[in-house]
Amino acid sequence: MLDLAIIGGGPAGLTAGLYATRGGLKDVVMFEKGLPGGQITQSSEIENYPGQAEVVTGMELMEKWPEQCKRFGLEHKMNEVKRVTKDNDIFTLILDDSSEIKAKSVLVATGSVPKAAGIKGEAEFFGKGVSTCATCDGFFYKNKDVAVVGGGDTAIEEAIFLANICKTVYLIHRRDTFRASPNEVEKLKKYDNIKLVLNHTTEEIIGDTMGVSGIIVKDKKSSEIKTLDVLGVFMFVGRNVLNQVLIQEDGKFLCDVNDSGEVMVDLKMKTSIDGLFAAGDIRIDAPKQVVCAAGDGAVAGISVIGYLQ
Ligand code: FAD
Ligand code: NAP
Repeated sequence: MLDLAIIGGGPAGLTAGLYATRGGLKDVVMFEKGLPGGQITQSSEIENYPGQAEVVTGMELMEKWPEQCKRFGLEHKMNEVKRVTKDNDIFTLILDDSSEIKAKSVLVATGSVPKAAGIKGEAEFFGKGVSTCATCDGFFYKNKDVAVVGGGDTAIEEAIFLANICKTVYLIHRRDTFRASPNEVEKLKKYDNIKLVLNHTTEEIIGDTMGVSGIIVKDKKSSEIKTLDVLGVFMFVGRNVLNQVLIQEDGKFLCDVNDSGEVMVDLKMKTSIDGLFAAGDIRIDAPKQVVCAAGDGAVAGISVIGYLQ
């Protein structure tokens, strides 16, 4: 019987583990299906984490977090949690190997995954020219032409990352103003090889057995259709929260969620179910920043200690 089971080993889960173990909880296990670190490990450049005076990659930022947690006794199990249920004040976690773990409290910190735009060719060519990670796949397109789709912080940052590797980066956005912070947008101007394709919708990603060969876009004003010859397409059109662990056998959520599936929490990261906490990108109104996810994790860790006392 665990004191606390943490699901997800991103900034929120790791920080909760640090606070819970350092605060005296003995049996705390973090279930992370991959390597700890979370989605930020896919980022090429972080410049807004407090105390980091130099720009660092996501990998560099997260490198020491698991080691620090381990020092205070946090255990990491490399499992995917399939479902969490609650019966008579005790939680049960069902793991990917069908084993079951009992816990007195649970923190859900499963974050989010890239959204699909739903355009023709996107799923067909995924992994064969279509990617959602520039840090992982950018190098395959060294000195080649690629397209980036989206107008948020991720699209702008990763377009800049790709511009340092690729010959041309077409940045395709459906509006003529960006959702990204003005500071990021300003940086685009320094790159002659980033070609803005604004007010255009993406119609189809085309290719053959060798992979992607182009992307078809449509001018929203003139309705003109054109094909951009690219070998890679990077899709950064937002993210969906990963709340599947909370879905029960009857299809209902274990706790209250909003229309977007984000978990409702109070200021102590408590959900509508006693002993169940949520932190980071998965919660309502998350600012989707590493520092905020870590802050949520700290609050959740402290709240769990109070709950168990
Ligand atoms: P995540 O980081 O998503 O971690 C969740 C973890 O849970 C993952 O490791 C996942 O594998 C695991 N998991 C999910 N489901 C299960 C399951 N069922 N069982 C076991 N494990 C599971 N923020 C900034 O502050 N500055 C930036 O510059 C910045 N740049 C970014 C660039 C990119 C490309 C991206 C994608 C994000 C960026 N962000 C940035 C946002 C930041 O990464 C997130 O806000 C933050 O990582 C959220 O942390 P989290 O712990 O809530 O979730
Ligand atoms: P986002 O902010 O939701 O932006 C998604 C972009 O994709 C928007 O520009 C949107 O267009 C566009 N889009 C959505 N659906 C589309 C579709 N079907 N076809 C074409 N375009 C589509 O997502 P994000 O950039 O991944 O960022 C997610 C969160 O992480 C944000 O809160 C962000 O601030 C944060 N983040 C922060 C940093 C940082 O602090 N440096 C870096 C990365 C991410 P519209 O604008 O028209 O809606």
